[in-house]
Amino acid sequence: TDFDKMNLHEPLLRGIYNLGFERPSAIQQRAIKPCILGHDLIAQSQSGTGKTATFTISILQRIDIDLKQCQALVLAPTRELARQIQRVVLAIGDYMQVSCHACIGGTSINEDAKALRAGAQVVVGTPGRVFDMLNRSALRKENIKMLVLDEADEMLREGFSDQIKNIIMSMPEDLQIVLLSATMTNDVLNVTKKFMTDPVKIFV
Ligand code: AMP
Repeated sequence: TDFDKMNLHEPLLRGIYNLGFERPSAIQQRAIKPCILGHDLIAQSQSGTGKTATFTISILQRIDIDLKQCQALVLAPTRELARQIQRVVLAIGDYMQVSCHACIGGTSINEDAKALRAGAQVVVGTPGRVFDMLNRSALRKENIKMLVLDEADEMLREGFSDQIKNIIMSMPEDLQIVLLSATMTNDVLNVTKKFMTDPVKIFV
């Protein structure tokens, strides 16, 4: 299958081709469609497989670009990875003019809250800061319909377990969860069992 057979909207397709992507990688071939349909999904995959673009394309196809509220939240284990994901969202979403904010530790709390209150359709962050912003109601959760847990094994290893669980439990009903992990540790499997519904499973 090809990107133009995926029924993606035109500005999104242009964003993908503009990055020089010609055809979907293995994980993209298998994961994008179920993600767009709203299924929970577990992907066991390493960096370098095209996993970031997989969930980014799915997010950008699913959000309502006219709604200036957070609709997708991506959690990552490190500030650097969160920034990297933000860059991919902005690059692939360039022709959609998507707004995307990196909500990460080590930056000013007030500036972060201000940026979030101004409205970001996609928020990418580390669990501690995101949890803080949800508690302050700077990050509004009402319109969040998709949560991505990237490098879930690393996040759980770094002691983010409680924050991740609290974040998930504070989300609206009918939340779609997409989890990516290089390894399926017991901690990861516990999260999937506790919070995910009949997930599609992909191994690449
Ligand atoms: P990731 O697995 O997200 O770390 O991505 C690994 C690298 O693959 C990144 O540099 C992406 O820009 C690149 N990439 C992702 N999807 C594709 C694709 N369909 N075609 C060519 N390159 C891609």
